[in-house]
Amino acid sequence: MLDNYTCDTLYTADYIITQNDSRDIIEHGALAIAGNQILSVGHADILTILYPDARRVDLGRAAIMPGLINSHTHIPMSLLRGFSDDKALMDWLTQDIFPQEAKLTPELVELGSLFSLAEMIRSGTTAFYDMYMLERSVFRAADRLGMRAVIGESITQYFPSLSCRDAEAYFDLVRAQAFEWMNHPRIRQAVVPHAPYTTTPELLQQCYALAEETGSFFGMHLAETRNETETCLSRFGKRPVDYCASLGLLSPISTFFHLVDVNEDDIAQLADTGSCAVHNPASNMKLASGVAPVEAMLNRGVRVGLGTDGPASNNAQNMIREMYLASLLQKAHRLSPTACPAQTALDMATRGGAAALHDPYLGTLEPGMRADFIALDLNAPNMQPVHHIVSNIVYAATGAENRLTVVDGKELYRDGRFLTCDYDALLSEIQQARIWAQK
Ligand SMILES: [Zn+2]
Repeated sequence: MLDNYTCDTLYTADYIITQNDSRDIIEHGALAIAGNQILSVGHADILTILYPDARRVDLGRAAIMPGLINSHTHIPMSLLRGFSDDKALMDWLTQDIFPQEAKLTPELVELGSLFSLAEMIRSGTTAFYDMYMLERSVFRAADRLGMRAVIGESITQYFPSLSCRDAEAYFDLVRAQAFEWMNHPRIRQAVVPHAPYTTTPELLQQCYALAEETGSFFGMHLAETRNETETCLSRFGKRPVDYCASLGLLSPISTFFHLVDVNEDDIAQLADTGSCAVHNPASNMKLASGVAPVEAMLNRGVRVGLGTDGPASNNAQNMIREMYLASLLQKAHRLSPTACPAQTALDMATRGGAAALHDPYLGTLEPGMRADFIALDLNAPNMQPVHHIVSNIVYAATGAENRLTVVDGKELYRDGRFLTCDYDALLSEIQQARIWAQK
């Protein structure tokens, strides 16, 4: 079907990491792009002959790979990076984060979003799943910078919120945004209640019905801590996953973030309903939430993505770092050096992310897939020698090696330059975040 397409640009590099079903890695490879799609992947010598008229971008000693997918975050929270650290989750939220968030404005949310987007674009992330408040500003920022995203306005049972005076106003907002972003090539909407402990059963069911009605996805924080399980048991008589199952929330449009305190039955329910999970190792470690049984989920057939969580609980938006932490956390926790190998971490950040964002055209470099990819510089001293390229990416890279970020066929970052935002102008505005934090 793609035969009629003309190759616009041919990217060549020492390695192409396809992440296809057999995890092929092509040495001296090339990636042929037609518009916003991948036309062909193969050896540079062959594709150069096939597409003699294409624009050539020779990246040399580099590894081209699928763009990383940050499957759970709250990007405006870069405003609160380093604002409050080293506290217990509930103290952190109720004493520091929530009171400060109550003073947010749409302009500040957009500024925080742009900063996180710049950080993600620079360190090799091409898509993200966001939930926060005043998300209209996040939609706008992602659109402007050219990122791919699933974005949702978060809701709790407490009103008025920053965006809505009551639940009806929230439902109207979701309907309006569904209409507004319906045909966007890169951005989709999700209905994202905050968590079981900040919502009612009725509200959760209304949210799920709204997701179905508007063709949106459904996402929620779930089973983040043992404390949440105890609260859920005492309020509703069920563990968090059981509780969601009883409300009809487990389905292929649903993605649940954290899933730290889950048992075998919970995992089976998630797998059998086609629900997606997102693992957030840095946030779980920093907030001492626990360790998600990632491999048990994967082995049972749950599709698991990887996310940074917000910049206030990580404190970076760097998926290279997140892969490293995901792998090492499992090894240390399970006292097993074979736990969560590098390839598993890379799979979660690519193929798992595609599942978490419900986009079958993401996560691999194959013909017909979306042209979302990055290229890591292998000249960096920490990237040599190359015995196993995936090992270097997961265990040795820092994110600073990324030279190129392409989303939907468009270059957003190349060799130190942001191509869709004026980063110097953005940097001059960030002082506003410190002024706001002192209010
Ligand atoms: Zn979160």
